Amino acid sequence: MVKITIKGVTVEYDGIKALEDVNLEITEGTVTSIIGPNGSGKTTLLRCINNILKPKMGTVLIDDIRVDSLPRMEVAKRIGYVPQISPTAPFTVFEVVLMGRRPYVTWSVSERDIKIVCSALEVVGASHLVYRYIDEVSGGERQKVMLARALAQEPQVLLLDEPTSNLDIKHQLEILSLIKKLALTKKLCVVLAMHDLSLAYRFSDIMVMLKDGKIYALGDPSQVLTPENVMKVYGVEVLILDSPVQTIIPLKVVS
Ligand code: ADP
Ligand code: MG
Repeated sequence: MVKITIKGVTVEYDGIKALEDVNLEITEGTVTSIIGPNGSGKTTLLRCINNILKPKMGTVLIDDIRVDSLPRMEVAKRIGYVPQISPTAPFTVFEVVLMGRRPYVTWSVSERDIKIVCSALEVVGASHLVYRYIDEVSGGERQKVMLARALAQEPQVLLLDEPTSNLDIKHQLEILSLIKKLALTKKLCVVLAMHDLSLAYRFSDIMVMLKDGKIYALGDPSQVLTPENVMKVYGVEVLILDSPVQTIIPLKVVS
């Protein structure tokens, strides 16, 4: 059973707190979304889970092992991370996804590695891009390729920072349905930082609402995404519909 445990995590940048005493447990087969206004600490939290960032206080455990005790490549075998802004470089899509196999590649790339790369591209619907250069595809296409790269790592944990921000509505639904399916079938722990509250509501099992680096609300999306909480955290009056799908309609800015 894969599990991430975040215990008392506090992060500071230049003495300014970006996260404060965050406690959270994430279990396999579920999609957890992190929501909150710009600057509330979503990206910082993902970077702590991935051990890119060391908290000032607290620990992150994956299956009861401290992530900061694992070598970089061991973290990469367990955790796939797709950042908000992915770096561009003059590599082909194939090469970029193959880099996801780096934790496993010993002497040379195997036939199995190539198969995994091709199947990861197929799963995200990006096979046709395989010979294109990553800096010459659209933002949405790049987002899919970076997801394929994370899947090629064959991780137990998938961390995605605003995975649908560059996608059109069709691809938003396709990618989030795929992520949800992967969580269930491959028993992944999925953590998404999301701006789109309606999509977060619809596709997540657990929701974490951050305000100023602290967990303001946590639990079932229907309990976290209430008009009162959205008002307190975002300063916006909203109307929430449950049918035909969960939808958050912003009405007006209040504070
Ligand atoms: P979010 O992803 O929710 O928009 P972030 O986690 O990126 O928020 O940022 C949380 C807070 O930490 C913000 O106030 C931001 O300005 C600050 N911050 C983020 N990264 C850095 C950094 N590298 N150096 C200094 N401050 C940072
Ligand atoms: Mg962010």
